[in-house]
Formats: sequence, structure tokens, C-alpha cells
Amino acid sequence: MKTWIDQLRSTRRISDEALLELLACTDADITEYLHQQAHEVAVQQFGHYIYIRGLIEISNCCKNDCYYCGIRKSNTKVDRYRLTTEQILECCEQGYNLGFRTFVMQGGEDRAQDAEWLITTVKEIRQRYPECAITLSLGEMPREVYQQLYDAGANRFLLRHETYDENHYYQLHPSEMSFANRIASLKTLKEIGFQTGTGIMVGSPGQTLAHLIKDVRFIEQLQPQMIGIGPFIPHKDTPFGNQQAGSIVLTLKLISIFRLMHPSALIPSTTALASLSSDGRERGILAGGNVVMPNLSPVNQRKNYSLYNNKAALGAESAEGLNRLASQLKKIGYAISYERGDFQS
Ligand code: SAH
Repeated sequence: MKTWIDQLRSTRRISDEALLELLACTDADITEYLHQQAHEVAVQQFGHYIYIRGLIEISNCCKNDCYYCGIRKSNTKVDRYRLTTEQILECCEQGYNLGFRTFVMQGGEDRAQDAEWLITTVKEIRQRYPECAITLSLGEMPREVYQQLYDAGANRFLLRHETYDENHYYQLHPSEMSFANRIASLKTLKEIGFQTGTGIMVGSPGQTLAHLIKDVRFIEQLQPQMIGIGPFIPHKDTPFGNQQAGSIVLTLKLISIFRLMHPSALIPSTTALASLSSDGRERGILAGGNVVMPNLSPVNQRKNYSLYNNKAALGAESAEGLNRLASQLKKIGYAISYERGDFQS
């Protein structure tokens, strides 16, 4: 199995059979070897530096009803909010002063924050912070709107495909949603010129290793600039409230595999990983991750952007906790990079 890992590192390719065995493998020695190789590749690419992105959760209102997500429209227990442009600009100002040079606006698909409002907001941020990157993570939109947002100054877009198996997609989403549109949206984003991120939840209900292989192949074909991999974590007020959380071990393995296949990709050590385990963030980095996304949302709203139970939003997971993040990183030999951190091939 180590030969396969070596080959994966040198050729960036792996057969379906080898991938399946690697994903299924429970030998701690092999897993450790995989992480070591991926970690070395990450260090070659980025040094001992971790990029930071300030995450602004702009709205928890959503027209969609994804079975896994805590802010799905059918969850009547959510205290709904949406930030105004002014509030978002305040978050940016606070983030800028803390040293952030990327702002990520994430939210539900909120009809009230319509295209016009979004474009105005992006233009405003672009004007005030010409040197910063603006990332959007706001779901599916018509091509014209993606294009207008890009023209307004947005640089990057995160849209996880969630699963590349169509049947599995409909186990996770109601039939009003469209697998084909999710995938088409990703291609559109890339065509427009966004640095594009995609990814999956590991251990989402119904997911098999065969599905994961399809995800790896899709990502190989799409060549996104960013790859977001986090464990599924149940939210009690969703149809998946009683399901088990995804495996940290499998999540880490996938981070390493993606690092070896896509050396220059930006791969976050995700909030979900940090939420599920107190050393999750560090383990994600040691497995090949090179980005963290501290929470820059207004503190009083953070609890309401609850995608899953016990989501971390404070301490080292928060923008104001950067010092704590820095000292955690230092313990594993890393420092925060205050660069904007664009994708470089
Ligand atoms: N509305 C946007 C942003 C969604 S939230 C969009 O559709 O892209 C960002 C990501 O959080 C999702 O893509 C999903 O992969 C992840 N997420 C949602 N619910 C989750 C859960 N219960 N456990 C782990 N990750 C979850």
C-alpha cells in the first residue's frame, strides 16, 4: 500500500482499486504514512504557513430544504436573521484590522438578499478593500448573476457538490433541487473565472466508499482551486438528526489524498473537523490542509447559523481568537500567513 501512496505522490494518480483499498484501510501505520506524504507536499507548496479567511455568515434564511442542514427552510426552530450591507462592512472592517485579506460571505439561498443587493454589497466591499479577496458561498444562481458578481469584484466561489452520485444526491436533497444544476453551476463558475471551490461532507447518510471514489474522480476532472472536506455532523432538528457523525479518520485520509492529487489546491482544515474533535484543526493541517476559516460574523448571531450541532464559532475558530489560533499552530510548527493567499498553479 505504501508503494501506491508513493506513486500517488509522484504521479498524482491512483487507480479505483487502490483508492478503494486505501479508503477502507484501517492500518494506522499506512494512514500515518499517507498523512506524512501529504504533509510534506503541503509544506513544499506553502511552507509552514496557514492562510486565514474571515467567514461572514450573512443570512440563515434559506429557500432550500437540504435534509442535513440545520438552517433548512422546514426547521421552524431557527431564529432567522439577515445582515445588512452596513453590518457586513463592519465585519470586514473588524476583519481587516485583525489582518484578514480574504472575506468569505456565506449564507442560505435567501431570496431577500437578491442579486441586486448582493452586487451592491460586493461592489461596496471591493471599493473599500481593493487588495482583499472576496469569496462567496451562497449557493446556486443563474449564470448572469454569477457573472455580475464576478464583474462587481468577487474573486472566488465555494459550492460543494456534496456528492457526485445522483441517487445519493437525492437521498440528501428533496426532489425540487437539482443535481444537474449543482454540477452545471460549478462548471459555470469556473468558466467565468472564479477561483472555484467544491467538496463534500464525509459520512453523510447513505454515503459509500464507491460514492467517495466518484467524488475523487469528479474533482480530478473539474480541477477546482479549493477543496472543502468536512465530516457530516447531525443537527437535531433535521431529518438526519439521529444519524451518526462522519468519521474523522476518513475525513483526514481524504484530505491527504486530495493534497497528493492536487498539490497546489487550497484545502481548509474545516470548522466541522474542529467542531467534532478538539484537535481536529491541527490534525487537518498535519494531513495536508493549508487554510482555516475563522468566524467573523457578529458574535450575537453566530449561534443562529447552526448548520449542525455544537458548531465551533468561538476561541481559535473565531476571528477575535486569532492569537489562540496562532499559538495552536505554533505548537505544530506553523504560523498564520497574512497574505491574501490566491491559488497559484
Ligand atoms: N447555501 C450555500 C452554503 C451552504 S453551507 C450552498 O448551498 O453552498 C456550507 C456547507 O456546509 C455545505 O455545502 C455543506 O457541505 C456543509 N454542511 C451543511 N450542513 C452540514 C452538516 N450537518 N454537517 C456538516 N457539514 C454541513
